[in-house]
Amino acid sequence: MYYKEIAGVKVSALGMGNMRLPVIDGQESRIRQDKAEEIIDYAMSHGITYYDTAYRYHGGQSERFIGQALKKYPRDSFLLASKFPGHMMVKKENGVVGFTSGLAGWPDNTVAGVFAEQLEKCQVDYFDFYLLHNVSEKSLVIYDDPELQVIEFMKQKKAEGRIRHLGFSSHASSPATIDDFLTRYEGVFDFVQIQLNYLDWKLQDAKGKYDVITKHGLKVVVMEGVRGGRLAQLPEEQMAKLQAVHPEDSAARWALRWLQGLPEVSVVLSGMTTLEQIQENVETFAAPAPLDQAEKDLLTEVADSMLNWVPCTACRYCTEGCPMELEIPKIIAAYNGVKNGDHMARYDLDAADPSMDPRRCIGCGACAGICPQNIDIPGIMAEFPGML
Ligand code: SF4
Ligand code: SF4
Repeated sequence: MYYKEIAGVKVSALGMGNMRLPVIDGQESRIRQDKAEEIIDYAMSHGITYYDTAYRYHGGQSERFIGQALKKYPRDSFLLASKFPGHMMVKKENGVVGFTSGLAGWPDNTVAGVFAEQLEKCQVDYFDFYLLHNVSEKSLVIYDDPELQVIEFMKQKKAEGRIRHLGFSSHASSPATIDDFLTRYEGVFDFVQIQLNYLDWKLQDAKGKYDVITKHGLKVVVMEGVRGGRLAQLPEEQMAKLQAVHPEDSAARWALRWLQGLPEVSVVLSGMTTLEQIQENVETFAAPAPLDQAEKDLLTEVADSMLNWVPCTACRYCTEGCPMELEIPKIIAAYNGVKNGDHMARYDLDAADPSMDPRRCIGCGACAGICPQNIDIPGIMAEFPGML
C-alpha cells in the first residue's frame, strides 16, 4: 500500500467504502456480518487506514457495522470518516429536522442529536474525517440555514476534538456551486469528496470540480472511481481495446490507475463487496502506477464511446421510496445496454419478475428528487418499453 496525505495526516491511497458491503438476500439493511468483517480484517492487515461510512448507508446499518468491526483494533490504527445527512433533511420548528424520502419515516432529530447518534453507532468519541453529505444546489437550503447553523456546529465539534478534519462530499451539478461554497466558507474545510473517474471527467464535468477544489488548495477524496462497478464491466468491444495493450489487466485496474495519475487525489474510495475485489485493489495500490500518455488516450477513447450512458451508479437511494418496488438501477443498466446496442440486455427484464418491469412505473416521481445523479428516472421508465 502506498500513502498520501490530507491536511498533514498520512492516509492510505486506497480507502474502504462501506456502502456496498455484502448483504443477506439482497436486502440492503441486512449486512452479512461474517463476510463483511472478513473484508475489513483483510483491509486492516493490508495497510488500508481510511474507512468511509455515512448516516444512511445500508439503511443506517453501515455505521453500526463498521463501529463493531473496527472496535478490536487500536483507535489510532484506523481513520474513520462519516457524513452528516443534511442532503436528506427538511427543517421543522425550533431547530428540529425531519428526513425526506430515502430516510422518510426516520424520527425527527436535531443537528446535535444526529451527530451524537453517529458517534454512538460507530463506537468512537471522535471522527478523524467528517463530511457534510452531498453539498449540492438542492441541499444548500439546509447547510446555509441561519437557524440550524450546521457549519457553526461542525466548527465547534472540531474545536472540541470530536471532528479532527472537516470536509464535504458533493454531487453538485456545477463546479461553480462547489467554488461558491468554498469561497463563502474559506478556511473551514480540509478536503472535498467528489465522484471522479475517467468517464465522469467529461460526462459530469468532474474535471471542472477537481480544478475548483485544487484551486482552493484542498485535497480530493474520490468516490465512485469505477462508477459503482460500471467501469469494471465494459462492453466487449471496449474491453478488447484495453486487453490488446494489457491482456491480464481488469477494467477496474485501468480505471484506478487513471486516478493514480491525478496528483491532488489523496484517497480513492472503493465500495468493495468481495474478498476478490479487495485483493485485486490492494494489488493495484501496492505502488503508484499511473497511466502513460498512450494509455490515457486509449481510455479517453473508451470514455468518449460511453458519453450517452445514463449515469446511474447503482447507489440504490431511489429504491427505498419506490411504491412499486422496482429494481430501478438494474432497469437502468438494461436501458443503457439496449441503448448502446447490447440487444441481449433486454433479457435482463424478466416479465415474470414485477420488480424488473418498467411498465409498472406509475410516474409518481418519488425517486427523481432523491437521485444524486439527477437522473430523470420516470422519463426512462416511460421511454424504455418503446425501445424493446
Ligand atoms: S416514478 Fe416510477 S420508478 Fe420512480 S418511485 Fe415512482 S413508481 Fe418508482
Ligand atoms: S437512479 Fe440515481 S438514485 Fe437510483 S441507483 Fe441510480 S444513481 Fe442511485
